[in-house]
Amino acid sequence: MIIVMKAGAAKKDRDEVLRRIRELGYKPHVIHGATRDVIGAVGDERGKAVLQSLESLHGVENVLPILQPYKLASKEVKKESSLVRISDDVVIGGNRVIMMAGPCSVENEQQIIESAIAVKKAGAHVLRGGAFKPRTSPYSFQGLEEEGLKLLAKARELTGLPIVTEVINPETADLVADYADILQIGARNSQNFALLKKVGQIGKPVLLKRGMSMTIQEFLMSAEYIMSEGNQSVILCERGIRTFETATRNTLDLSAVPVLKEKTHLPVVIDPSHGTGNHHYVAPMCFAGVAAGADGLIVEVHPDPEHASSDGPQSLKPKKFEAMMAKLQLFVEAAGRSL
Ligand code: PEP
Ligand code: MN
Repeated sequence: MIIVMKAGAAKKDRDEVLRRIRELGYKPHVIHGATRDVIGAVGDERGKAVLQSLESLHGVENVLPILQPYKLASKEVKKESSLVRISDDVVIGGNRVIMMAGPCSVENEQQIIESAIAVKKAGAHVLRGGAFKPRTSPYSFQGLEEEGLKLLAKARELTGLPIVTEVINPETADLVADYADILQIGARNSQNFALLKKVGQIGKPVLLKRGMSMTIQEFLMSAEYIMSEGNQSVILCERGIRTFETATRNTLDLSAVPVLKEKTHLPVVIDPSHGTGNHHYVAPMCFAGVAAGADGLIVEVHPDPEHASSDGPQSLKPKKFEAMMAKLQLFVEAAGRSL
């Protein structure tokens, strides 16, 4: 249920509503709107009628059911787009299209520093790089783990770029959070509910990737797991889904952008690197992602893709990335946004 407060309702009225929600055995989540606050009361669906009684409290406008199975992620709870603040100058979900770029995996100091400098020079806002890699094969490179996180922190210190890096299990989540500005949940872990709850408790911004066989509704239910733990800073990432098509690594579902924009207030980012698996297709899909309304892009860039430890075929060389960024500027402007 959502409890809609009157515009300008007093703090003491809101606190009383929060107290009553808790007393009834529900978990309240305050969502600050432009003109009024709404409070999500999430818990056992069977007690809806009891919550309806809150309508008589001072400062309450009305009490409404949330029709979607996802609650806090739903547009029903919050009409305006959410802004996810990463640092003083990086905010995802506003007018500016945020570019996250860097190698699939952190391989060594030279590689990550060179990548960071190159993507920064080309205009990226966030550095990506995996230290814990969830590989399809147990025999593939699994990442440098904490050593990789330290190298990412070094690259951040040098360039000022915040970092997004993957967390693969609850046991190492606190360690990753000590270094990362954004915690990435990979496609293979997008329904790892223990991990989703853990990053919800940590509270740092989360980049949640869509699972390769996930419906939009399941995707939003995964976001709900994070949000129901009290973390509203969730960024959704479409990274391609599995279809019958084999010409591309995955099928990048660009229609997910307008669909998500209709259903949720959370920002949406497109990953054309994993979405296509081929560096030739990355630029056109970046342009199309912006045209579709994406709030950001995440792209793999490697100084030497031929010798990359992972995802070389889909990684752009720095020069190509720079050229793409210049052209992207035109699409961003045409969409009425900035880069
Ligand atoms: C990655 O970002 O390198 C990655 C493993 O992505 P995904 O989880 O989308 O496959
Ligand atoms: Mn990758």
